[in-house]
Amino acid sequence: MSFGYPDQRRPTIGSRLLTRLVIVVVLAAIPLGSLLLKGCQKGPFGRNQVVALNPEQEEQLGLQAFEEVLQQERQKVLTRGPLVDAIRDIAQRLTTAARHEGFLTGVQLPEQEMQWDVRVIDSKEQNAFCLPGGKIVVYTGILPIAESNTGLAVVMGHEIAHALAHHGAERMAQQQMAQIGVMAAGGALGDMDPGARQQVLQMINAGAKFGILKYSRNHESEADRMGLLLMAAAGYDPRESMKFWERMQANSGGKSPPEFASTHPSHETRIQDLKSWIPDAMPLYEASQKVQTKPLPSADFRGI
Ligand SMILES: [Zn+2]
Repeated sequence: MSFGYPDQRRPTIGSRLLTRLVIVVVLAAIPLGSLLLKGCQKGPFGRNQVVALNPEQEEQLGLQAFEEVLQQERQKVLTRGPLVDAIRDIAQRLTTAARHEGFLTGVQLPEQEMQWDVRVIDSKEQNAFCLPGGKIVVYTGILPIAESNTGLAVVMGHEIAHALAHHGAERMAQQQMAQIGVMAAGGALGDMDPGARQQVLQMINAGAKFGILKYSRNHESEADRMGLLLMAAAGYDPRESMKFWERMQANSGGKSPPEFASTHPSHETRIQDLKSWIPDAMPLYEASQKVQTKPLPSADFRGI
């Protein structure tokens, strides 16, 4: 897996006109196509799920959103240094664990091909997200609450779980946004009117700049459960997850919380649920190459 910069691809004017034409045609066909575009598949823990996008479309949409976020934050993207190295290491371990047999058996999902990548943005925003297809963004504002590599693995594991579970594509199907999502995935995200683009970016949780849209209680809970198994398989002590959520709870007074700190489920329910899943996670942790918990390098280091 490579953590290099993706190529910047810009559509030509001709292709933009064509894209617009396609948008008009597809919009006209919405009532007809509303059921045809959805796909039913086995989701995590054996449940059925209906998704609006296939994995290739998710990847295309996620990459466009990733480029849009990086363009907006281009002054603040950290490119090197101990903090970037530490966060890449966590991403590497978690995404490698996403292929571990023990994890896949635990979450009842097949192995998936994802083009993982991670960027660190120097910002007070207490946020992190993983776009459909596997592009991860971590804001340094979350580091004081994460406290350590293990704390950050809780957040990143949760976010990676949303991508592995295809929650963004499922939410689009649930909210009748299948066509608009397919259009955006087809390369049209940049050409869409601002309202539609905003809606798509919200659906896939592309960061606070595009608005925070909470996942459902079920998606949050599922991402917590999967994230716990993922961090354990990657060698991070899953029992640390409860401490992380306690710190998050103590820190969330008054401010609008980031997506992963959503109050659905409530912090208390969330911590109780995690406690009940620890027995499933411990065997994965015991079988893993354990990672020692240590503080993250200073966020003050600019790395440039
Ligand atoms: Zn979440």
